[in-house]
Amino acid sequence: MLAWLQNLPRPAPKNITIRVKKTAERHLRHGHPWLFDQAIANQSDGGAAGDLVVAFDEKRGFLALGLYDPHSPIRVKVLHSKKPIAIDDAFFAGRIHAAIARREALSGTDTDGYRVVHGENDGLPGLVVDRYHDTLVIKLYSACWVPRLHQVVPALVEALAPTRIVLRLSRGVAKHPADLAGLSDGVVVAGPPLDGPILFHERGLVFEADPIAGQKTGFFLDQRDNRAIVESLSAGKRVLNVFSYSGGFSVAAARGGARHVVSVDLSRPALDAARRTFDHNRHHAAVAACDHLVMPGDAFDVLKDLARREPFDIVVIDPPSFAKSATEVDGALAAYARLTALGTDVTADDGLLVLASCSSRVDAAMFRSNAMQAALQHGRPLTVVDETAHAVDHPIGFAEGAYLKCLYCRPAPRR
Ligand code: SAH
Repeated sequence: MLAWLQNLPRPAPKNITIRVKKTAERHLRHGHPWLFDQAIANQSDGGAAGDLVVAFDEKRGFLALGLYDPHSPIRVKVLHSKKPIAIDDAFFAGRIHAAIARREALSGTDTDGYRVVHGENDGLPGLVVDRYHDTLVIKLYSACWVPRLHQVVPALVEALAPTRIVLRLSRGVAKHPADLAGLSDGVVVAGPPLDGPILFHERGLVFEADPIAGQKTGFFLDQRDNRAIVESLSAGKRVLNVFSYSGGFSVAAARGGARHVVSVDLSRPALDAARRTFDHNRHHAAVAACDHLVMPGDAFDVLKDLARREPFDIVVIDPPSFAKSATEVDGALAAYARLTALGTDVTADDGLLVLASCSSRVDAAMFRSNAMQAALQHGRPLTVVDETAHAVDHPIGFAEGAYLKCLYCRPAPRR
């Protein structure tokens, strides 16, 4: 499980010292995990990805410790601030153990698919680890983690005893092969090769994840709690799941007793997976009894078509991120407004419209007021009956870490 780590580069023994501009000092003192290139007044040496950075203020007072990333505008991924400490194997093991302890609430819930490490929010900026049953998927969003894997992976292996480790690299990281010591995106770095998707459990439901060809690391783990809520409301209902991916909300609704569930997605492989998700769960009588239909197509078009048919009691709309940068926020809000209006058109008079957003640039207040305004203008004003955020394995460790919002809305009956 650990042999592959032997060939990886190690960080330089000499630290990089950085003097930080006054404007950025406060953020670092408050423990912000990012130090931008623009905030660097001067720097001792060039440095390689993963080298340890010691950041000082203008009066040479200690500020923070972090990992150097020469390729990213977030030049230092900050690990620790306030007082100097040793960044050694025990430090990384401590962060991993704390992350595992934070997810304790999942034990006993028949869930072996969850996020073990959520980057910045677990004190390990740029490092994501997802678990699917016996497989760990390690995703690097910064090459600074390559020379640190020998300090992180042993703690993961010891605590979770995986049979296999898959490595994923963000597009930005994959662009710099010189820093990767032969590692590439999607390799099984330890354990047996993958011969198909991995089956895992979420609250007793069986799902598959393909950590190499699937979206994200294979599954949208962050919606677990919302799937549970939808399940609890679905008895006897007609449910529409728009942007269904592999049918997470769909099968939860089915187990909750939904009579009829429709899954809509643009991706054929996602809908094939959604069908298989129902097959994997037929041992639940309610899933076997549910009439499940998949509809391939663009959600905006399909919703328009469905508006001419019998409305649904529960409509879930969980689109991909529409705003990855600040410049895309207006477009994202317009798309959310359109989906809200289309969503009300397919929701029954006493029905529930569930609207989710994973765009980090659109905050909860913006998302709510945008949806309420859109529905009002469309003639079916919303009452928001519940609003949820992050699941326990996606903690929020800094302001930018909050991205998931979900509104449970009752549209006013048609006039
Ligand atoms: N609700 C899902 C996650 C949704 S992720 C879950 O609980 O697992 C977003 C999904 O939207 C992806 O499956 C993607 O294929 C799909 N998608 C993206 N653009 C789309 C569009 N225009 N119309 C329909 N589906 C789309």
